[in-house]
Amino acid sequence: SSFIELKNVKKYYRMGEVIIKAVDGIDFEINKGEFVVIVGPSGAGKTTVLNILGGMDSCSEGSIMVDGVDISEFNKKELTNYRRDDVGFVFQFYNLIQNLTAVENVELASQICKNPLEADVVLCEVGLGERLLNFPAQLSGGEQQRVSIARALAKNPKLLLCDEPTGALDYNTGKAILKLLQDTCRENGMTVIVITHNSAITPMADRVIKIKNGKVSGMTVNENPISVE
Ligand code: ADP
Ligand code: ADP
Repeated sequence: SSFIELKNVKKYYRMGEVIIKAVDGIDFEINKGEFVVIVGPSGAGKTTVLNILGGMDSCSEGSIMVDGVDISEFNKKELTNYRRDDVGFVFQFYNLIQNLTAVENVELASQICKNPLEADVVLCEVGLGERLLNFPAQLSGGEQQRVSIARALAKNPKLLLCDEPTGALDYNTGKAILKLLQDTCRENGMTVIVITHNSAITPMADRVIKIKNGKVSGMTVNENPISVE
């Protein structure tokens, strides 16, 4: 059976008289260890889907099975534990704490979760072995994003969710970040989901999910995804 399965997931927002259908009946399945890309126009509902999958937002309707459990049935405490222990997040703007070093940023996030990995080991794995004691302002954009990926991976999560992780980076730096995410997926068997509105990266994915107007408008499975070089 699938590692992730969304069935008829809906998220509506009420703005006075108006109801905004951010997510309007989404179904998809993802296997364990897949590198998945979600594409679609701005406002399509991509971030809302990712936030629901990560337990940062609740859905109005539908079921969300993750590793055999329906997280839409979770109470507040269960959702907090899920978010803390099972999911790693990577955002466009790294969200690092400026007065903590790279290794401190990673430790701060991982020390409160259930199965943390050693912060310095994970930073070495993302190529920052020489940068452990640097502050965010002393690092390039690509390096800061590597710290934020290390911070997510140090939780040893079941699932890594990335919202426009290359959105603030130049082309080649972004490419290196995507390669790191793809390698993480391949080497650790981790399930990685990346939102992007750049269709150029879709050949790298095992699965591409297209979202439009709050619905899945297409799904492609790549038998031979390309490796980024
Ligand atoms: P995408 O990530 O594809 O750009 P989003 O998931 O951010 O799309 O948003 C989908 C739709 O839901 C948009 O029309 C957006 O304005 C609306 N939306 C998202 N969050 C909220 C909110 N908290 N309140 C009201 N509307 C929202
Ligand atoms: P735009 O033309 O919209 O400025 P770019 O083509 O420069 O966009 O790419 C935007 C982002 O998409 C970059 O951060 C880059 O990481 C990623 N990207 C685009 N194409 C590829 C590719 N073939 N392989 C890896 N990453 C890519």
